Amino acid sequence: MNTDRLLFTPGPLTTSPTVKQAMQHDAGSRDPRFIAMIRDIRERLLQLGGVSQAAGYEAILLQGSGTFGVESVISSAIPTDGKILILINGVYGERMATMAGRHGLAATALRTAENQLPDLTVLDHALTQDQSITHVAAVHCETTTGILNPIEKIGALVRRHRRRFIVDAMSSFGAVPLDLTAAGMDYLISSANKCIEGVPGFSFVLARREVLSAIAGRARTLSLDLFAQWQGLEQDGQFRFTPPTHALLAFDQALRELEAEGGVTGRGRRYAANHQLLVAGMRKLGFRPYLTPETQSYIITTFHYPTDPRFRFAHFYQRLFEKGFVIYPGKLTRLDCFRIGNIGRIGEAEIQSLLTAIAETLHESGLPVPLPA
Ligand SMILES: *Cc1c(COP(=O)(O)O)cnc(C)c1O
Repeated sequence: MNTDRLLFTPGPLTTSPTVKQAMQHDAGSRDPRFIAMIRDIRERLLQLGGVSQAAGYEAILLQGSGTFGVESVISSAIPTDGKILILINGVYGERMATMAGRHGLAATALRTAENQLPDLTVLDHALTQDQSITHVAAVHCETTTGILNPIEKIGALVRRHRRRFIVDAMSSFGAVPLDLTAAGMDYLISSANKCIEGVPGFSFVLARREVLSAIAGRARTLSLDLFAQWQGLEQDGQFRFTPPTHALLAFDQALRELEAEGGVTGRGRRYAANHQLLVAGMRKLGFRPYLTPETQSYIITTFHYPTDPRFRFAHFYQRLFEKGFVIYPGKLTRLDCFRIGNIGRIGEAEIQSLLTAIAETLHESGLPVPLPA
């Protein structure tokens, strides 16, 4: 019996039965078919980013969750005399600053509120004033709230100032159209278990070859050495250490399903429809979204807690869990809120059933539906 809940969380997320089935094999890490599959996955990831090897880009796969991929770039790319500027409007930006601190890198942060886009005038000024800054890092979709940062505009500015640009596109890559060249990205990081709808187990970095070739010897760790991982993949097609074989088999299938859905635009269309249906339904129940529609992505949506004191989030969460739905607690520093992911193998029917379960849960808790404004 399948007692899996539907995951309305931004990774791990609900995957298709066929993606799960693809893992029913034990692949040997040196099996030529497995090595060919890795090569093929790397090429297809570049295509998703609108680039290719011929155009001067490389895809590097790395064991571990998305954070490992981000830390691989942060700890491998910045030279000892370099300095990183990090744009922060949520926990994933903060996490990059923590990494820079751990590795003893010179770093500076430009923070804006969690519901505010970065101020490009301030960035422009900082890059003019501080010539020691060599790298700029930003998060595309800040999953803390679901805010979508203007990555192309930031990229254009960074390029004009001739600095390197690192983008955490964890929760957007594969569903939000993105062209690495147009956005001036030197490094893009994402992972297997977000919009591509694979299972957890590895992250990947898309990078400009010219930039990558210059970072040999900069890594501060062995296992997260991005340059060495790239060289390993280039030399014998393999991961340096035990590869996440099952996760790669699942990912190969997930990529096929993404292509069958119409690629990034097709998938983006489904997620956008999920998001619109969710927001309309939640508004009808009296919930208020945290972000304004102009800054909101269709990846994940943050809602304020209802003001009625009878609302208890722990109870709300538990009742939804019992009904078969997993939502996501909030991560905001100051406000009480919760989040609902719109990504994964979910569509209109699943969003509708979640909305029904939310309405039932409010009723059961003695709350008025719709909630009063
Ligand atoms: C999920 C996520 C991460 C971290 O990924 P893990 O797989 O949890 O390590 C980093 N950045 C963003 C924007 C994310 O959404």
